[in-house]
Amino acid sequence: AKREGRGNFQFFSPAMNAATHEHLLLENRMWTALENNGFDLHLQAQVQLATGRVIGAEVLLRWYDEELGSVEPQRFIPVAEESGLILPLGDWVLARTMQLLAEWQDEGLGALRLAVNLSARQFSGGALLGRLDQLLQQHRIDPSRLELEITETAAMRDPESTRLLLRQLRARGFRLAIDDFGTGYSSLAYLKLFAIDRIKIDRGFVKDIETNPNDANIVAATISLAHSLGLAVVAEGVETHAQWGFLREKRGDEAQGFLFARPMPEAQFRDFIRERAQV
Ligand code: C2E
Ligand code: CA
Ligand code: CA
Ligand code: CA
Repeated sequence: AKREGRGNFQFFSPAMNAATHEHLLLENRMWTALENNGFDLHLQAQVQLATGRVIGAEVLLRWYDEELGSVEPQRFIPVAEESGLILPLGDWVLARTMQLLAEWQDEGLGALRLAVNLSARQFSGGALLGRLDQLLQQHRIDPSRLELEITETAAMRDPESTRLLLRQLRARGFRLAIDDFGTGYSSLAYLKLFAIDRIKIDRGFVKDIETNPNDANIVAATISLAHSLGLAVVAEGVETHAQWGFLREKRGDEAQGFLFARPMPEAQFRDFIRERAQV
């Protein structure tokens, strides 16, 4: 058992020890990766549901470590969150994304948007707005080409501060999306108060849409509710034509999933866009 407090020894079980060891190892390697340009961004296309036309992409962090191999975001993001490393890491993601938007503008890809994931810490840290202003000035891009995704859980932590910050971000012209909708502590009343553009329906609801009537009903109801509040809906994790068909029939707005494209390196994404445009 672990006992805390002054003058007490702390005893760790082997399981805790292993977890602590894993945490320290990852944290250590991540600092090194941050200093040595060891992180990469992959892009996953987002398409218009009705047509399948690509309208932008979500930015997803990737990490390949020489000793550990590729490490899944599910494994390293929580450690980065807990240790505070997510702040410099998230900042790198934002800066690189803005730079990419600027490059695309020069290459005639200026109509595409990019969506980035913001961690709870980044969102509530107080530095976000100033940093975004700085990056906008530096890269001179249209802010509506950047979408900021925050999870429902992060948004609901302190709804009143969320409401204020979202209003300020909206006033700057950024797009705002609520991520993983339906997985957290959702309050539809708050949705109405938040100045957001879109909600992203979590893959968990989309997965069994064809076989599970509850999921099908939840998705259909969420789409009509969102529309009645003036919000667009993005469905995550679309893998089959049947799922696409269902979402189209229910008038969802956009989609993301392996059916359309897997997350891919930036260079490959550019090729993907160019090939598609010629079809
Ligand atoms: P998320 O924001 O919900 O991102 C979508 C995840 O679903 C991605 O996993 C993507 O690869 C996966 N996905 C997309 N389409 C499909 C599909 O059709 N089928 C299946 N099975 N999966 C699909 P990924 O890249 O492993 O990222 C996992 C999570 O890590 C993300 O979930 C997000 O919460 C977090 N994350 C990734 N990059 C960042 C980042 O730059 N900053 C922060 N704070 N979190 C990030
Ligand atoms: Ca996301
Ligand atoms: Ca999501
Ligand atoms: Ca998720």
